[in-house]
Amino acid sequence: MNDAPSHTPSRRRPRRGLLDLDPDALSSVLVSWGEQPYRGKQVLAWAYERGATSYDEMSNVSKALRLRLSDELPVFQAEELDRRRAKDGTVKLLLGWRDGATSECVLIPEGGRRTACVSTQVGCGVRCVFCASGIGGLQRQLTTGEIVEQAMRVRSLCEEGERLSNVVFMGLGEPLANYNATVGALRTINAEWGMGIGARKITVSTVGLPKQIRELAREGLQVTLALSLHAPTDELRERLVPWAKTVTIEALTEAVRDYFAQTGREVTIEYVLLGGVNDSVDQARRLVTIARRMRANVNLIPYNPVAGLVYRQPEDEAVALFADMLSGRGVTVQVRKSRGRDVDAACGQLRRRRQGR
Ligand code: SAH
Repeated sequence: MNDAPSHTPSRRRPRRGLLDLDPDALSSVLVSWGEQPYRGKQVLAWAYERGATSYDEMSNVSKALRLRLSDELPVFQAEELDRRRAKDGTVKLLLGWRDGATSECVLIPEGGRRTACVSTQVGCGVRCVFCASGIGGLQRQLTTGEIVEQAMRVRSLCEEGERLSNVVFMGLGEPLANYNATVGALRTINAEWGMGIGARKITVSTVGLPKQIRELAREGLQVTLALSLHAPTDELRERLVPWAKTVTIEALTEAVRDYFAQTGREVTIEYVLLGGVNDSVDQARRLVTIARRMRANVNLIPYNPVAGLVYRQPEDEAVALFADMLSGRGVTVQVRKSRGRDVDAACGQLRRRRQGR
């Protein structure tokens, strides 16, 4: 940590970079500069296929154009402030943007899979009571390019011969509260001309904004939707997730059923298990009813302790009973393993530690 480069916050705003643009947008910029439109494809292929991180490497592009591009449309915009590798192979990056904002992104290796976890906002406005990300509130939105850059930087951490297989929008922030930038990033990460990650290998995790869930269902993307439910009743959910005060589980159920009807993609319910709060067998029984109505599978996430918060991890036995109740009633359930704990890999913890210094 001590040898991290200094990073001075400034008033500079995020600016447009190469990773904000699709081929059409890039071609029109180049044409407006008097270049041939095909140059756009060439440049994007250097960035996404060959992983060029600067224009210097783009040997079939003229020097003059390379200079103008690096001036006006930088490939990468962040500075790497910190990199930590956990014993289980998880690697966490802390990136610093021009305006001093920071973002966390993570590489999670598991079996043959290589998953990138990216952030969509700086901080978070939802303020779920057990989460580190919302503690300082929402600082700003990330741009499409800033989200894509995280995925690209994580991809470059993969070893020779490995390829990035999955991308999950589960870092800091609420993706659907930054809708346009999120959808732009989804398209680039999925596109043949972009990162080429199959839509089914991309997951968007949301606290549940019904209008945006319906909109996402109509984008023509087949991405997996994960819904952070965390409670089987509105009353408890309102205590854990402040935004639930305006969105009932019933409204979420309808939105999720619509997502399934439009995309044919089964939704995942995420449920953070907090010891003594939402981990009883009776609560599991109620969750069965909701999961069936949502036609969803369930991902149980044992609480990952956050310094300063009062919650405790569930007992192993409670987790097992909870999972058994679901699977015994025909709900597909998975218990998520905590990864990278020795490097503060849970949402927002690395960023928070740095701010706390
Ligand atoms: N805002 C989005 C995505 C970011 S969080 C959402 O709410 O889904 C990704 C997942 O990590 C969410 O399910 C979130 O509830 C969970 N999470 C947050 N803090 C956690 C903690 N301390 N322990 C375990 N899971 C946590």
